[in-house]
Amino acid sequence: MRKIISVVGARPNFIKIAPVHKAFQKHNDSVEHMICHTGQHFDEKMSKVFFDELEMPRPDFYLGVGGGSHASQTARIMMAFEEVLEAERPGLVIVPGDVNSTIACSLVAVKMGIRVAHVEAGLRSFDRSMPEEINRMLTDVVSDFLFVTEKSGMENLAAEGIDDSKVFFTGNVMIDSLVFYMPKIDASTAVADFGLSRGDYVLGTFHRPSNVDDSGSLRRLLEMLAGIAGPGGKRILFPVHPRTRANIERFGLGGIVPDDVIMVDPLGYIDFLSLVKNAAVVVTDSGGIQEETTFLGVPCVTVRNNTERPVTVEVGTNFLAGTDFERAASLALEVLAGGAKKGSVPELWDGRAAERIVEILLGD
Ligand code: UDP
Repeated sequence: MRKIISVVGARPNFIKIAPVHKAFQKHNDSVEHMICHTGQHFDEKMSKVFFDELEMPRPDFYLGVGGGSHASQTARIMMAFEEVLEAERPGLVIVPGDVNSTIACSLVAVKMGIRVAHVEAGLRSFDRSMPEEINRMLTDVVSDFLFVTEKSGMENLAAEGIDDSKVFFTGNVMIDSLVFYMPKIDASTAVADFGLSRGDYVLGTFHRPSNVDDSGSLRRLLEMLAGIAGPGGKRILFPVHPRTRANIERFGLGGIVPDDVIMVDPLGYIDFLSLVKNAAVVVTDSGGIQEETTFLGVPCVTVRNNTERPVTVEVGTNFLAGTDFERAASLALEVLAGGAKKGSVPELWDGRAAERIVEILLGD
């Protein structure tokens, strides 16, 4: 029996590993697939709801590392994960995405001579001030299998001199979850539950440190939402990430949010995707939501200076607005006035990426 451990730490990781776990279940006579949750995100709304909705088993290992500075969190994950690997000695560790758990666990595994597979390899924003960019680059360097979601990733890895025999263009596991759960997403009543209807609202999510950690930026971001809601004549549903919520409170900015911006807690996967699917436009700084909107054909305005997912702009429905919040607001208003672009779905975003990944890993 081969033993493989997948690592999850933060919200987007759960969504990416769920289809990988399902694909391994079809081979459970030959592979034991275990899940290690580092505890980067640990509460009901950022973690537990995803295990429930995405039908994942209780993690086999829970490291409970919680928050902290980058260094202390990464170090605590490494120390705890080393003990797991010492005890279990798996043949392979799978790490998704670009969070601190991703780099921490790949580093521990590679130094113990355990092979590493990076799911969502090769994405580059070319902005090294983003912690995620450092995590992606370093994880790719030490990985033995690099599974890539879009063609730009193949080019980036080739340009960095990564041996192409390790690199596989397999598609997008986040889209696997979306395809698999589409019937449930379509059955969700979330839109009506919030008193909204299809196409009559804007959905906003923000959590990147560059937007929400500075009081001036966060103020301008909230003013941007007000500037879309009023002139656009739409309500804005704003599920607030815990980091953003804490900063709104810390900087005393709650008062500048107008009534037509509805602030709610982070939502579960099914309801959130139903709200994405039915929105007039999504305004975000999320990585994954740029991909989900492109798959669903929903216009997206990304409030960042760069994207590591350029296919969403080149082929999909995404507009890169930069962090000039006035420009982002006018782009969103243009979309509301009929200026959306008609995108198409990128290659291999077909709901079968995890199957391809598992086939490659088991064929090895
Ligand atoms: N998401 C969710 N509920 C929310 C906000 C986001 O289920 O209230 C999902 C979203 O659909 C996507 C993932 O969480 O699948 C994205 O996570 P996030 O934006 O936190 O991370 P990023 O992709 O920016 O790393």
